[in-house]
Amino acid sequence: PLCPPVGRAKSLSPEEVCDHEKQYVGFATLPNQVHRKSVKKGFDFTLMVAGESGLGKSTLVNSLFLTDLYKDRKLLNAEERINQTVEIIKHTVDIEEKGVKLKLTIVDTPGFGDAVNNTECWKPITDYIDQQFEQYFRDESGLNRKNIQDNRVHCCLYFISPFGHGLRPVDVEFMKALHEKVNIVPLIAKADCLIPSEIRKLKERIREEIDKFGIKVYQFPECDSDEDEEFKQQDRELKESAPFAVIGSNTVVEAKGQRVRGRLYPWGIVEGKHGAWEHWEEGQAGMGQR
Ligand code: GDP
Repeated sequence: PLCPPVGRAKSLSPEEVCDHEKQYVGFATLPNQVHRKSVKKGFDFTLMVAGESGLGKSTLVNSLFLTDLYKDRKLLNAEERINQTVEIIKHTVDIEEKGVKLKLTIVDTPGFGDAVNNTECWKPITDYIDQQFEQYFRDESGLNRKNIQDNRVHCCLYFISPFGHGLRPVDVEFMKALHEKVNIVPLIAKADCLIPSEIRKLKERIREEIDKFGIKVYQFPECDSDEDEEFKQQDRELKESAPFAVIGSNTVVEAKGQRVRGRLYPWGIVEGKHGAWEHWEEGQAGMGQR
């Protein structure tokens, strides 16, 4: 990898080749080496989903990664949920896209917020996150550091009910208990249940409450000042639209002659293209079509 590209060297005279080789250190190929190594090794990504049951967590995860991660899921009845304790269930799947391998782990937290008494129901979740940090620390301090499996939770999607008037006490407590440990991305679940003005109001309210309670949610990184204007605009819009309002769908429907993932209602179709609210507005154009 430290040799100059052959094609280029051929067109140079012997003296020029000599000069050229003197100037050539080889670090220009470093990005390719890093890239090749990373692609070969693959990536680990652990995503946690939390929020009251029935808010569409499994549906969204399945639609995000185009897989069925919840094949053997057991749903509890009302009586069982009264004294339900929070469980931590891991679903792992290997995904490959254009030769890039991803070991995706979804950490589900069934039972969160479902019991009658939800005092400290986030405790098993914070304990789990801490355990993963400790395990990683132990592995890093050990001898076999090359093959560490990274099980730390990289991101937590927190589902907020669209039916309330902002955050519930349990939402505030959960996010405050976790915000120092994991990147929290708050989402407004089932956004198709609200009209655009309601969504705007709810987002505003949630943003105010996040500020008021000093919750630190995930902040998108600043984009570089030399990026082009279109990219900067996209970046601004993305930041302004947080908390994202999402729609999940596991079914493919036909809208305007195209097959899309969406929800088919008696009055029309809502397109759930990877969830962002902006995309839902595209879906709105499809409304009214039966
Ligand atoms: P979970 O318990 O949070 O994992 O919720 P599920 O994914 O099992 O979804 C519960 C119910 O809500 C199912 O009947 C889904 O079809 C429905 N659902 C899921 N996502 C959406 C959505 O974005 N909008 C609406 N209206 N319903 C949804």
